[in-house]
Amino acid sequence: MHELGIMESAMSTVLAQAREHGARQVHRIVLRIGALAGVEPQALRFAFEIVSRGTPADGAELAVENVPARVHCADCAADFDVAGGFVFTCPRCRALCADLRQGRELELARIEMT
Ligand SMILES: [Zn+2]
Repeated sequence: MHELGIMESAMSTVLAQAREHGARQVHRIVLRIGALAGVEPQALRFAFEIVSRGTPADGAELAVENVPARVHCADCAADFDVAGGFVFTCPRCRALCADLRQGRELELARIEMT
């Protein structure tokens, strides 16, 4: 389960931020996850419960912002959403594109603490 490693590194950032701000309790953590990031939200939540236990983030809400996968066509400059894969066909000009502009995000968007 690589979600555990992802969550461990996210949590070290969260806890470093909490220390820096002298926060005692982390209330909410928002992650931005791309449709093609290869992360299972359920596994992420489970990993979060494990790594947050006994820390100031224990009991915090883990929110996930989903980022759709979008591809840019170099031929006609169209941007279009895709469900998955590595090579995509432009719906406008039928050119093959592989220029994924978003969808692989895996980042900490926001931390709410007091
Ligand atoms: Zn095109």
